[in-house]
Formats: sequence, C-alpha cells, structure tokens
Amino acid sequence: MLVKEEKGVKFDNELDVEDLKELVKRFKAAVKEYTGKDFPESAWEQLWGGICAVFDSWMNERAIIYRRMNQIPEEWGTAVNVQAMVYGNMGNNSATGVAFSRDAATGENIFNGEYLINAQGEDVVAGVRTPQQITVEGSRRWAKLQGISEDERREKYPSLEESMPVCAAELIAIAKRLEDYYKDMQDMEFTIQDGKLWMLQTRNGKRTGAAMVKIAMDLLRAGEIDEKTALLRIEPQKLDELLHPVFDKDALKRIETSPEDLRGMAVAQGILTMRGGMTSHAAVVARGMGKCCVSGAGEIVVDYKAKTVEMNGKVYKEGDWISLNGSTGDVYDGQVPTTEPELDGDFGAIMNLSDKFAKTLVRTNADSPRDAKQARRFGAQGIGLCRTEHMFFEGDRIKSVREMILASDEEGRRTALAKLLPMQRGDFEGIFEAMDGYGVTVRLLDPPLHEFVPHQTATQKELAAEMGLTLEEVKAKVDSLEEFNPMLGHRGCRLGITYPEITEMQTRAIIEAALACKARGIKVLPEIMVPLVGSLKELQNQADVINTTAAKVFEEKGDSVIYKVGTMIEVPRAALTANEIAEVAEFFSFGTNDLTQMTFGFSRDDAPKFLKFYKEHGIIKVDPFEVLDQTGVGQLVEMGVKKGRATRPDLKVGICGEHGGEPSSVKFCANLGMNYVSCSPFRVPIARVAAAQAAIED
Ligand code: PEP
Ligand code: MG
Repeated sequence: MLVKEEKGVKFDNELDVEDLKELVKRFKAAVKEYTGKDFPESAWEQLWGGICAVFDSWMNERAIIYRRMNQIPEEWGTAVNVQAMVYGNMGNNSATGVAFSRDAATGENIFNGEYLINAQGEDVVAGVRTPQQITVEGSRRWAKLQGISEDERREKYPSLEESMPVCAAELIAIAKRLEDYYKDMQDMEFTIQDGKLWMLQTRNGKRTGAAMVKIAMDLLRAGEIDEKTALLRIEPQKLDELLHPVFDKDALKRIETSPEDLRGMAVAQGILTMRGGMTSHAAVVARGMGKCCVSGAGEIVVDYKAKTVEMNGKVYKEGDWISLNGSTGDVYDGQVPTTEPELDGDFGAIMNLSDKFAKTLVRTNADSPRDAKQARRFGAQGIGLCRTEHMFFEGDRIKSVREMILASDEEGRRTALAKLLPMQRGDFEGIFEAMDGYGVTVRLLDPPLHEFVPHQTATQKELAAEMGLTLEEVKAKVDSLEEFNPMLGHRGCRLGITYPEITEMQTRAIIEAALACKARGIKVLPEIMVPLVGSLKELQNQADVINTTAAKVFEEKGDSVIYKVGTMIEVPRAALTANEIAEVAEFFSFGTNDLTQMTFGFSRDDAPKFLKFYKEHGIIKVDPFEVLDQTGVGQLVEMGVKKGRATRPDLKVGICGEHGGEPSSVKFCANLGMNYVSCSPFRVPIARVAAAQAAIED
C-alpha cells in the first residue's frame, strides 16, 4: 500500500484525490489476490461482507485473549449494529472524537476528550495520529507536558472549544445530560459532519481503580446515587490497584517515552506507547486491566530487532528500569521511589460503607506479625489461617526442624521440638498482639516432612556433618520420607497423630504466647485448627492432645485463656460427615484448595500443566483453584455448612482457601451464611466489598 510513504507524507488527510484513487486500485488488487474474487460492486454484498467480518472477529486471537482476561463466556457471541453514518473526514469543517464526562484516570469531575479534524473514528482509536484536546484547559495542560508554547498550541493544536466553539458547547451540554440520565461517568463518541454535531454512542466509561472509587463517592455525595448503588459500582478486583505504592511526587526528571498487543499487555507491568492518546485502544484496554499506561510519547524510538528503546538521548535495553506514572503521563529514567498508598479518603469511605452492609466478616491468612499488621491496616478482622509450617522456613529454624525429622526416636524429636518452641511462641505473641481483640486461627503443622529435608547430596553431606550422622544415614531417612503423592500422603493431622509431640509443642507455644499476651493486657482469642481431617476419630485424637496440653500449661502458669478447637474441612469425607465432626469441632474452616484438589482429583502441583489446555479448549471456563467451582465443590461446601450446623447450631464457619479473596467465591460463601472469609492481606479490601455486595444483592 505504501502510498503515504511513496509520497513522503505521514497522515491520511495529506493524500489528494489522485492518491486515493491509486490506493483504491491497490486495495482492489489486494482483495483479488487474497480472496481470488473481485471486490464486490453491490452495496448489499459489501454490507454483508462487513457484517460477517464483525461476527468473525469474535473468534480472532485478540478477542479470545480479551474474553479470557475478562471472563466473558465464548457462547455469548457478538452483535452487529447496522447504522447510517455521518463522516468526520469531509474536510476541515468536520471532525471526530471521543469524550469522557469525568477524568477516567483520576475520577475528577472534569469533562475531557480528544478529537481529530478531518478524520474518522478509526483514526482516533487506532492511535495512528495523536489527537487534540476538546477543552481549552485540557489542551493547555497537554501542551505544557509536551513542552509546546501557547502560541504554537493555538495555531497547530487548538482545542475543539477554540476550533469549533458551537459544537464544543453542544457536546459538553449533551455529556452532562447523558451523565445525569445514566448517573455514571460516560464515554462518548461523536462526529462532526460539516459543522453539525452527531452523537454516535455513549456507555459507562472504563476507569482506573482510583477513578472508580472517587466517582462512586462523588456521585453519592452529590445525591445522584444511594449508598448501595455506590457499593455496587465497585469492581472488587480493581481495588488492588489502590493498595500498591504510588510515586513519590518529588522524584526525578521526566523523560519522554512503547506499544504492544493484548498478549504482551497482559504480562506487562506498565505500557508505554509512541503514538495515540488516552482514548486509543491501547490506553483504554490498559486502563481496563488496571495497568499503568502512558500513550503518545512521540519522541521514543523503538528498535524491535535490537530490543532497545531510545528516549531523550538514552538507549534502554531489555531489563533496564524506567518508571511510568499513568495518572500524569510522565516517564522517568530508572526506578522511582514510591510511597505507601493512601487508605483513607474515598477508599476509606468505601470500606466503611462495605462494613455497614456486609454480613460476613473478612479475616486474613497471615503467618507473621508483619503480615498480620499489614492486614489490620486493610481492615482484616482476625486471622482465619496461620500456616505454622511457614514459620519453620525462616532463618535457622529449618535446622531444628531437620533435627526433629532425622531423630530416630521420640526423645530425639522432643529435644529438637524444644528448640522450636520459643521461636513459635515468639511469633504467636507478635501475631496475637497485632490482632488484639480479634480471633486468631492457628493451624497445626500440615505439609509432608520431606519438604523440609535436602535432596541434593552436597546439602545432605552438610546436614550429616551438622547432626553427627553419616551421609548414608541421612540419605536413608530422606528416602524413607519419599512419597509417590505427597499431597495425599503423610501430612496434616496424619503427622500430628503419628507424632503427637509435634501437636503438643505447637499447642504449648500457642497457649504460652496467649497467656503472655494476656498478662500484657492484650485480648487474645486463640483458635487451634487441625488440618486435613477426614473423620471424627482423627479430630478427636488431636483435640485430646490439644486439650491435655493446654490444661497442663494452665496449671503450670496458674492462669488460663479461652481457646477453641476446630478443623479444616478440606477432605471430601469431612464435608460428607460434617455432622459427626461438629460434635468435636467448635469451628470449621473450608480449605478449598485441598477440597478442590480432592473433589476434581486434580493434583494441586501437577494440574497447571493441563489446566491451561483445558481452558483454551473450553473444557473448563476458569481455573477451579482460582474461582470456586460452585456446581461441584460448592455442593460439598454447602453440605458441610448445613450438616455441621445441624449438630452445632452456633458453629463458626469460614473459608481460608485461595477462594476466600475472589469476589464470586466470597459471594457464594456469604450466601451460605458463613461467618467469615479469610484471604491474603492484599485481598482483604476486595473481599470486604464483595461481602457487602453479596448482602446488598441478596
Ligand atoms: C486449603 O487447602 O484450602 C488451605 C487453606 O490449606 P493449604 O493451602 O495450606 O493446603
Ligand atoms: Mg489444605
């Protein structure tokens, strides 16, 4: 096609009639070459060609990736609107553009948008020409960022308010009417044909997480929407954007600044494009994905072969740092220091509103005092899962754990466990302190023991020397721990049952820490949780060890605390016999990671290998380890809750598998009447909003 190149021009509107005739000739030749047919002369045939192209686009790679990213089912299909058009490319008295009734990046109540004179909509969204601003204010701000003088701006890049004031005023008035009607930020497309404004479409605009929160709160304060509607306007997952550090405002000097396809965008941390404005598809899609995007940085030079980018005279290779600020469009050399995110203001207001409506509490999965504190900042009301094995991996602790595993008898194990006791007690104290007044569920040791021992000869040699054993002895022990399917092997309560001294040590550490905290005026509510229980007998065995140990500690210390003993429900049999298990368990926590594994028969460690294929071929819609399978696994959860409460009506029930922070799963659990969901600290705010939405939608 290359007509522009041959003529030495950059833009479509620089082509004259003869050039366009030449272009038509070449397009027709191309159509003939690729389809083997002449380009149809009948308007009907052309129209049908267009319609079919839209339907076919549903199955193109880009659409497939987009659907997967946004969990849009393939069977929905797409629709085509056939609509008489007006033309924005009928000369300099015509234009086309995109406008937003509020700022999609920050949420500020500022009308803004972009347009191009003598252009079609495609020219704006394709990001080929860098568009001009609609408002004078926006135009001035843009010019300042680009380092363009006011005179140059007015002459070369005037705003629509300046170039076509009547149409601009009409557009702004229409935007206001549309927003008043839909009561949400509008994203509108328009065309001006020969001086007359036409509106092409309006829809609720895509926005960043920050804008989502601000717009919902602004509309609430303005009395446009009520509290429930404000909450329902929040896409829980998007809150994640607000929980991560933001740039320190005073950082570094700005340089100018890459483009990419959808697959690339999905894995990118940030997106930098050479051309296009904030309404170009790249920017809109990036915003939708919650990624930082800076578009239209015209001064960068990308060398695809060498994999370098040149900006402001400096060449950046793969792996070099640049920092992007998606709100301002600034690009910085190097890694810019960041500051902690603001958790009050509008964000805080949304969180408070959530708590007003939610009936399900949100706890957190945390195994260190640091994570516990972080989760409190995000509003977690207790710990739903403290995986004690994570505490064993830190620093020198692994040595004592290995000593325990290598011990040939109970006495040897007890000696090693005694070394672990103070470490665990210390951690529990820190966690109880961070959760002053809230429940803390501590789970007893879960993973198979072979995870703690070295499998390489070099490290085994070191360990043998340290423990005063021979290499052969260490090897023999490690080999004896080998299991064909460790996830279904000697782990969970099976460990505590065969080695009760482990349960004793852990109970002692929990109770001693609780008493120490109590003495310091901290309100402690310890809950001791037994993992991987499949039968009442298993739980009874461990509950006996726990209760005997606790009573012993109380006697030694001359003081006591109230504690609860409960269980994970993560083996299908536990859900099926929940009525029996609840005779002993004072609480249930659904471990949906294991429950999903065992219900599907998908090994947690091996499933990723084929789940990707399954997803791509429509065997499953979503990964059941991410989104709770309500149809199958959900039945076991529901049965577990009902049967458990039939035996013990006040049974406290929660979920602590990964699903506890995924909005649709949180809603499912809330609807079953669970008391709480528990998730990683950074998903706490997401779960809080999802819990509130569940209550409102109910
Ligand atoms: C679970 O199985 O859901 C769970 C929370 O325990 P873990 O992931 O530690 O096995
Ligand atoms: Mg588990």
